[in-house]
Amino acid sequence: MDEITFYKICLFSLFAFAVIVYFSLLLIPAPYGRHLRKGWGYTVRAKLGWFIMEFPAFVVIIIFFFAGNRQTNIVAIVFLLMWSTHYFQRTFIFPFMMKGGEKKFPVVLIVFALGFNTLNGYVNGRYLFYYSPVYPLSWLYDPRFIIGTIFFISGMVINLHSDHILRGLRGSAKNGYSIPRRGLFKYISCPNYFGEILEWTGWAIATWSVPGLAFAVFTFANLAPRAFTNHRWYLEKFSDYPKKRKALFPFIK
Ligand code: NDP
Repeated sequence: MDEITFYKICLFSLFAFAVIVYFSLLLIPAPYGRHLRKGWGYTVRAKLGWFIMEFPAFVVIIIFFFAGNRQTNIVAIVFLLMWSTHYFQRTFIFPFMMKGGEKKFPVVLIVFALGFNTLNGYVNGRYLFYYSPVYPLSWLYDPRFIIGTIFFISGMVINLHSDHILRGLRGSAKNGYSIPRRGLFKYISCPNYFGEILEWTGWAIATWSVPGLAFAVFTFANLAPRAFTNHRWYLEKFSDYPKKRKALFPFIK
């Protein structure tokens, strides 16, 4: 099989996985964090789990940048910086700032996430740094790039700020849950997921690419069902949970 055929299969698989993951997670919440439960095999410390599963997302794109033919293209470098900034934080900072880090994380989820992050890094990196038409410098002034980048940066700020608020709910030794009330939590139960979806939607627009779209669709498919499950969980756990708060999209759902 030649590489372009292999590549197309990988790209198609991302969309297929998104559909499978969306409907599976509506039925069976991923067993980590507040939904951790017995029966999912071996577990490791959550901090270690997050580091291991996010590492390929950080490193694979860099490998394909150097394996490609765009090392001196400014737009390609900007895309690499956008992606790497997100995944540097997620791999090297987020896991080590988690509170309640004695919590466990199932190995089966780590294996799934490792596979996904490798596939997604290949599909996006190979396209941007090899298969795509070369992005001219003027792409940086294109409305698609500007709007996409505004979405990407806003999404990242919302995601980081929301995760920061959640960390603030826990003392260093505590492992319990309380109602978050600051920032976008006033409107939705999962603003960190909303930020993440906004970020990768911005990526799809800024790169104006099918691989970028595949990642945005997958992110929605992965996080929307969990946001709905988390929202129901909050309502069941806290009798004083704000009734007007939505799950994922302010004022909508
Ligand atoms: P959660 O919101 O479930 O948890 C984030 C952290 O906050 C965890 O340490 C959690 O503890 C803690 N926490 C959550 N709610 C409360 C609360 N009410 N009171 C006290 N502490 C709380 O997010 P995830 O763990 O699912 O995701 C973490 C990050 O990874 C997010 O930024 C998310 O967007 C991103 N992500 C991205 C995915 C993608 O497809 N791109 C997929 C999954 C996550 P505990 O672990 O003990 O529950």
